[in-house]
Amino acid sequence: MELKSFRDTELAGKRVLVRADFNVPLHDGKVADDTRIRAALATIERLIRSDARIVLCSHLGRPKGAVQEELRLAPIAPVLEQLLNTYLARNNIEARRVVALSDCVGEEVRQAVVAAGELDIVLLENLRFHAGETANDPQFAKELAALADVYVNDAFGTAHRAHASTEGVAHLLPAYAGYLLIEEVQSLAKVVHEPARPFVIILGGAKIRGKIDVLAGLLPKADTVLIGGAMANTFLKAQGIGVGASLVEDEMLGTAQQMLTLATQHGTELLLPFDFVVTDSIENPSGVSTVAAKSIGANDIAVDIGESTRERYRDEIRRARTVFWNGPVGVFEVEQFSHGTVSIAHALANAHNTAYTVVGGGESVAAVNKAGVFGRIHFVSTGGGASLEFVAGKELPGIKALTG
Ligand code: ADP
Ligand code: MG
Repeated sequence: MELKSFRDTELAGKRVLVRADFNVPLHDGKVADDTRIRAALATIERLIRSDARIVLCSHLGRPKGAVQEELRLAPIAPVLEQLLNTYLARNNIEARRVVALSDCVGEEVRQAVVAAGELDIVLLENLRFHAGETANDPQFAKELAALADVYVNDAFGTAHRAHASTEGVAHLLPAYAGYLLIEEVQSLAKVVHEPARPFVIILGGAKIRGKIDVLAGLLPKADTVLIGGAMANTFLKAQGIGVGASLVEDEMLGTAQQMLTLATQHGTELLLPFDFVVTDSIENPSGVSTVAAKSIGANDIAVDIGESTRERYRDEIRRARTVFWNGPVGVFEVEQFSHGTVSIAHALANAHNTAYTVVGGGESVAAVNKAGVFGRIHFVSTGGGASLEFVAGKELPGIKALTG
């Protein structure tokens, strides 16, 4: 699959719509992890060098087609501006101003885009404030396309979605892949095609739907799959083991059973945690203890993998030659429940010399940063669901639209 880069295209004076992935974690209205913003800088810098006029767009969270004040992209602008200008200064390029607009389509937006100064970079408002974005509405795609002469997709994290800004618009303008997208595809390809074995996948997190079915594509490829997070709760319950008040996706119990059967069929080891850290409350824990998987009480909330499980998972990672990790194995945002996730991060870092290690996913990357091991992971992907689907061998619509 050949992705077209914009590198050799004449872009001077052209307006370029860049679909970036600024879907970053926010805390109290501030950017809590800027990895995805940093990841967009290479493409932006290259476009600046080409004298292109840049219009950035992204989604943030899941506003479901309506304006949600706390999901505006405004908090991204100062962080992007600061990171970008530091990056530009190193290359002796004049500083830019990032101008955040309050909408992403329409006449006012078009005028603001046209009026933007030479040193301005326009940041459109959250695309998902319009229902047409996720619906891949042709009219909405047309309105986005009307803002630019050229389209560059750099949003690997959303490439598994056929949305207006990732798929629709690619058919309406000359379309290219950004540097990040190309780097993602090249780095993940090493995991997809003939990974060095044993190939170990760690799958956790809270987004069960949309991730668990991807296991169907992963199980035939992996030698061992280590399950954690709320994903583990769903698997336990599917086996008839009580998980008390833990987070479970009940509609996915049947799928979980199918995956267990599939693992047996492919001879892939699918490991579930055998002990858990449980609590009575995530926000205000008064009691925290570690219990065996079969002893989770009716009021218990499983929030992390236990110490015995950590040890076993570490062993598997130590033996691996390829490791792919998506989804924290616990509620790592809370210090007390972060130890399992941090131990996985350290295990990957320690495997630096023996395995090709890849981590993907918004929160998973935040966990790698929290553990302080970012530099000891071979490739940190900006995509969670997207990297999972890519590794499972699925064709991502956002990428396909650039090759067709
Ligand atoms: P990623 O962003 O890396 O793709 P997800 O979005 O699927 O991962 O899930 C990340 C979230 O999963 C984290 O915010 C974490 O708190 C949550 N999580 C992990 N384990 C549990 C659990 N046992 N119960 C509830 N939430 C969990
Ligand atoms: Mg996430």
